[in-house]
Amino acid sequence: MTIDQKVHTTLAELSIADAAGVEAAFTEVRAAMQAERDALLARGAASEAEREKLCKDLRDRWLARKNGILSALDENWLKAAKKELKPFVGKSFNALRQESATLETLALMMDVPLRALPESPRGIPDAGSPSSVAVQVSRETPSDLTFPGNRRPLGTLHPVTQMQREIEEIFLNLGFHIESGPEIESVYYNFDALNIPESHPSRDDWDTLYIDSKTVLRTHTSPVQIRAMEKYSAPLHIIIPGKCYRHDNPDASHSPMFHQIEGLSIAADVTFADLKGTLDFFAKRLFGEKIRTRFQPSFFPFTEPSGEVSISCIFCGGEGCRVCKESGWIEVMGCGMVHPQVLRNGGIDPKKYSGWAFGLGVDRFAMLKYDINDIQLFFQSDVRFLEQF
Ligand SMILES: [Zn+2]
Repeated sequence: MTIDQKVHTTLAELSIADAAGVEAAFTEVRAAMQAERDALLARGAASEAEREKLCKDLRDRWLARKNGILSALDENWLKAAKKELKPFVGKSFNALRQESATLETLALMMDVPLRALPESPRGIPDAGSPSSVAVQVSRETPSDLTFPGNRRPLGTLHPVTQMQREIEEIFLNLGFHIESGPEIESVYYNFDALNIPESHPSRDDWDTLYIDSKTVLRTHTSPVQIRAMEKYSAPLHIIIPGKCYRHDNPDASHSPMFHQIEGLSIAADVTFADLKGTLDFFAKRLFGEKIRTRFQPSFFPFTEPSGEVSISCIFCGGEGCRVCKESGWIEVMGCGMVHPQVLRNGGIDPKKYSGWAFGLGVDRFAMLKYDINDIQLFFQSDVRFLEQF
């Protein structure tokens, strides 16, 4: 069976039923494409017109929307593939499609004999005439400078950025504002003003990256809470997205740099019910109406009372699975009522105002949303990974 016949036959009809078979089939197609391309390059063309025609014919044979070989593969191999084979067919198909991009620029690589130089009076080509300029250039390289350039692929927003914007959008719709602050932060704003005592283990240089004894790379976005209180006073409804740093060795769930979003709402008579209602609304907006939230007591120095928020597992709906470790719940953030001393440190009278706050990891949310099991993938700049978003 020829390649042309094969690409018009489904994988099932070709009796291909496993990943190895798929790979072998695509390897054969790729080899055929490379052979045709190399044969054309070796052949060359007698004129520019012939080159254009030969390149166009080969391009159309493989890439034409209608009746091109890649379109046939898309129809007969990819779309018709059984569900369990699809990931393998998709991967091989994409690799082939990338390779086939060389057919778009084939004319740039193909040799064409030089036209005879027009005789100028002194035997020097007339530099003013476009054709002689082209000829001079083409003596140096076989390129045709009038040929269109390589198309560059368009980029997309990083998955963590996409996640951050989605979360921001929900809170912006609730009337929150976005606030930001420095990543190089004073020990006062990062710890003292947030009621984190000198003896607290998080202040240890095993956990925190110190620049000098009074300056750190901020370990959370919380210092911006104090900065915002000082700047705007109450009432105040803000979210604070940004990068944070900790003395962590990189592994599947830790990175020395990560992204947080923190929320702060201060007004007269704000209660824990407001906090619960807002975070429940947020979880449902982000993950769907069926999501339930659960609040459990916890401890943070800057909130009292403090809580951990879990959502019902987005993968199993609460039945129990690998991701939720069979518990049906996934812990997603910390929260609590702002400690009166923290309000005072921000210049706000805790007798007049109360507030709540929460903090979540954007990278972790993106991992949940896209079912990614290694945080490092976000920061390795591997285009094959990033292209999927
Ligand atoms: Zn689960």
